Amino acid sequence: MAAGAPAATGGATERETRGPTELEIPDATTHETQGGTASIEYIAHAAFIIRSPGGAELLIDPYAGAVWLGYDFPPDLTPDAIVITHPHYDHDGGRFRGQQTWWDEDVTIIDAPGRHEVADITVLGIEGKHADPYGMEFGQRNTIMIVDVAGMRLAHIGDNGPLTTEIVREMGQVDVLMLPIDGDEHILSNEAVEAAIAAVRPRILVPMHYRIPELESSPDSPSDLGEIEPWLEGRDNVMRLDTNQIVLSRETLPPEPTIMTFRHSPAVQPARARQHP
Ligand SMILES: [Zn+2]
Repeated sequence: MAAGAPAATGGATERETRGPTELEIPDATTHETQGGTASIEYIAHAAFIIRSPGGAELLIDPYAGAVWLGYDFPPDLTPDAIVITHPHYDHDGGRFRGQQTWWDEDVTIIDAPGRHEVADITVLGIEGKHADPYGMEFGQRNTIMIVDVAGMRLAHIGDNGPLTTEIVREMGQVDVLMLPIDGDEHILSNEAVEAAIAAVRPRILVPMHYRIPELESSPDSPSDLGEIEPWLEGRDNVMRLDTNQIVLSRETLPPEPTIMTFRHSPAVQPARARQHP
């Protein structure tokens, strides 16, 4: 988009919308955001790119290609910082298990609690705990990441277990919540998902960390990871976006709590060979 051009509106199409909410969500067809807007781009699994009004890019939870998940991680990404909630191969690019990672050695890595600044983005890490029974090999550490951008608060909980009252208090007001949800209750039970939504009360809920059937060649793997559709069935205010990118600002947040599912990035392809962790 040329500088000074009006922001595109209504570019996103919905494959299906339930409930009364009709929203016009601008489509991020370029990698540029304008004053007061941030973009969210879904890669796949729990990986997202957040772009700030100033153009800074944060990549959250890049998965290792073809490990457990049957698809590759897209090449040629150049984020300003990489945020890692916990050292599992499906969130840290395989770093903890000793895989060669694709990113530059000098890229900023944010993988711990505390306050971190990346250009016009602030990341607040809150100490949590990985959902049982996984992650014993790294002490079940998991950091909930709050991203302050364009006057909005986005929260990505990684693979945290049920949210405690203490954690919810620290999270504060959240506009967009990225929550691991799947039909097999791999990370969170349905009860824990409902409790998290009721406690955090986000304007936009973005389910993540579910099986993407069109990218998986084996019905048996990844084991115990369900699809998202069974969970979405019968819910109100669901927007199944036909894009993997949206632009958001405070002004375009939906008036009613809305569930948004993204398409995976077109750059993600099924892998020819899968590695088992
Ligand atoms: Zn995971």
